[in-house]
Amino acid sequence: MLSGSTKCPGLFYATPAQDGILSRIRIPGGILNSQQCQAIADIADQYGRGYVDVTNRANLQVREIHQGINALVLQHLQALGLGCSNTTVDQIRNIMTSPTAGIDPQELIDTRPFVTAWDNYITANSQLSGLSAKFSVCFDGGGIVSVSDRVNDIVFAAVLVNGEVYFRLCLSVGAKGNSAQDTGILLPPEQCLPVLAALADVYLAHLDPTSKNKLRLREVLNNIGCENYLQQVQQHLAFPLSSPQTQRWEPKSEPQFQHIGIHPQRQPGLFYIGIVLPLGRLETRQLLGLVELSEKYGKGTLRLTPWQNILLSDIPQQSIADVQRQIAALELDYSTSNINSTLVACSGSKGCASSATDTRGDALTLAEYLKTRVSLDSPVNIYFSGCPKSCAQHSKSDITLLGVSIEENNQKLEGYQVYVGVGDNEQKFGREYQFVTVAKMPAFIEKMLLVYKTQRLNLDESFKEFANRRMKDIDA
Ligand code: SF4
Repeated sequence: MLSGSTKCPGLFYATPAQDGILSRIRIPGGILNSQQCQAIADIADQYGRGYVDVTNRANLQVREIHQGINALVLQHLQALGLGCSNTTVDQIRNIMTSPTAGIDPQELIDTRPFVTAWDNYITANSQLSGLSAKFSVCFDGGGIVSVSDRVNDIVFAAVLVNGEVYFRLCLSVGAKGNSAQDTGILLPPEQCLPVLAALADVYLAHLDPTSKNKLRLREVLNNIGCENYLQQVQQHLAFPLSSPQTQRWEPKSEPQFQHIGIHPQRQPGLFYIGIVLPLGRLETRQLLGLVELSEKYGKGTLRLTPWQNILLSDIPQQSIADVQRQIAALELDYSTSNINSTLVACSGSKGCASSATDTRGDALTLAEYLKTRVSLDSPVNIYFSGCPKSCAQHSKSDITLLGVSIEENNQKLEGYQVYVGVGDNEQKFGREYQFVTVAKMPAFIEKMLLVYKTQRLNLDESFKEFANRRMKDIDA
């Protein structure tokens, strides 16, 4: 295993963390077959501590590794299609697509072939190892479970124009953390890959090969201007980039956790079940249990979501009750009212030296505290971040708890600055609300949720809408 050669962990780029070595396995599109799951579970058991974490790019991470992973084991993973067969490009960000690609009843196009094509292209072109490890690409098929508003450098978003499917090309420009913005360019599906290759080539041409800190695509676009950049892309292409005068396209900003629970697939009679993973963590016994279910009832695949949950797909209607019982036997849940379904935390002080607090531990304490005190009937996304970098979630959550450490009476006091996810885009986490200590945080959040539940206008008023209304009343 290579070590310390990049800031972003990959299967072949072990990265030290507070709790041991971290290995991140790219899963393009987030779809795993049962053999791959078995191999990852073996690694987590043998080298880690018997669990895996799903990340917000639908990768898998094995943490707390205390000895180098044997080269033969890595080769075995490569043979199973895990990790890039070209190790020089393995650290490039996972390719994102909707976890329901190919099964979503409303999607316009199945994006899985686009993910595979770009992954193959990266693998075959070693010069792309010069890309920033954070060079991120997303294909959205226009279905119910949309990933078009996830933060990515480049988004291809499927749209219907005069009965034909095209992709809108969206690029990350402006402030850090914004969703990619529509360039107005409309691409027939077969032009996506050449355009993506040209976008990458132009980006590489603007990087300083001697600099250790590679500019992000957003920074290059901000420096030279989007139009200028696209003119340079055009010079690499044998066809014109078309930007018809159509209305500006906006990413879907529908509820983020609607994949949780039982949902019909586009294939008649088949269903997928969105399973809640507390903070994205899955014990290997649970992973193997889900593999068994997917083999017995489904088609032997599991799908990871960028919301750090997992989908069990292709379940026939008549088997749903059996599968539900067996999911419960694995101590897993599939309900949106489960606070864990919408709880997100970065690795916190146990995994990251920058963290002011034990975000994961505090988030789990909160979930345990709320379990018997508040029942949610609509999802409220609560996000714990150990520092302002905000690695685990780029979009605004309903409630953000930002870890801070303050001095009081010569004593260090750990706590959270609480934000509610309203306000303009400049306010990364939303409106600053109040500081609470770690000890008082669970009761404080309980109170916020109970006020929302008892004072909202009706059952359809989301937490954000409620908070926005209340803030306006306060401002008036
Ligand atoms: S958000 Fe900050 S504390 Fe949390 S993992 Fe990222 S860098 Fe570390």
